Amino acid sequence: MAGSGKTTFMQRLNAHVHTVKKPSYIINLDPAVTHLPFDANIDIRDTVNYKEVMSQYKLGPNGGILTALNLFSTKFDQVLNFVDKKSSFLDYVLLDTPGQIEIFTWSASGSIITETLAASYPTVVCYIIDTPRSTSPATFMSNMLYACSILYKTKLPFILVFNKCDVVDNQFAIDWMTDFDLFQKALENDTSYMGTLINSMCLVLEEFYNHLKVVGVSALSGSGMTEFFDAVNVATKEYEE
Ligand code: GDP
Ligand code: MG
Repeated sequence: MAGSGKTTFMQRLNAHVHTVKKPSYIINLDPAVTHLPFDANIDIRDTVNYKEVMSQYKLGPNGGILTALNLFSTKFDQVLNFVDKKSSFLDYVLLDTPGQIEIFTWSASGSIITETLAASYPTVVCYIIDTPRSTSPATFMSNMLYACSILYKTKLPFILVFNKCDVVDNQFAIDWMTDFDLFQKALENDTSYMGTLINSMCLVLEEFYNHLKVVGVSALSGSGMTEFFDAVNVATKEYEE
């Protein structure tokens, strides 16, 4: 979701791979970002100017971002060529997605980019969650449903990254995901239609939770990085299998 900390997390990953000396390649896919807190090897903004796209095609901001990403994806084979040339020296290729995540997940360009990558390299999707904003059962559940839909759309190994753990610890989320009763207890006071719906949904999601890797991190403080890269290793094996 926009504001969950994807870009800040990228900055943290970038710092981490430098510290542990794992050469990585950084790609920014957000045409509308005004400030990038890391040096990208490839930046979509060098190829397409989304404000230009907006005025040229008479689009609003979302249409501008969508079209910019579509234009960029037609050249993604060239991006992959750059990566291929360096791949023997690289441990990771990290990609930041647009703030409006649905543009990436539900558009042709998003599919082209993820499928092109996944055809050549072990590819892992990291779904960044704003932990402090997911403490109510309703927002937690809609976040999980969203994650679930992206997992089934991309069919790639998937890591749920609970971010901003410096503000709220993600233990409550782990409890809710592993113990159905605890989640129901949190729902107890909610007698609305939404509450009833969520109650039934969590039975469905139990199966989904079983296949997920979950880590709690703070992009701000840097906590959880070791656990995150452990999860990436597991996800890479999963990709290969
Ligand atoms: P994006 O839209 O998902 O790329 O989100 P950004 O990386 O731009 O972050 C949105 C806001 O969340 C910024 O104000 C960040 O400083 C803040 N933020 C990101 N990660 C963390 C974190 O781990 N802890 C805290 N407290 N704030 C964070
Ligand atoms: Mg961002």
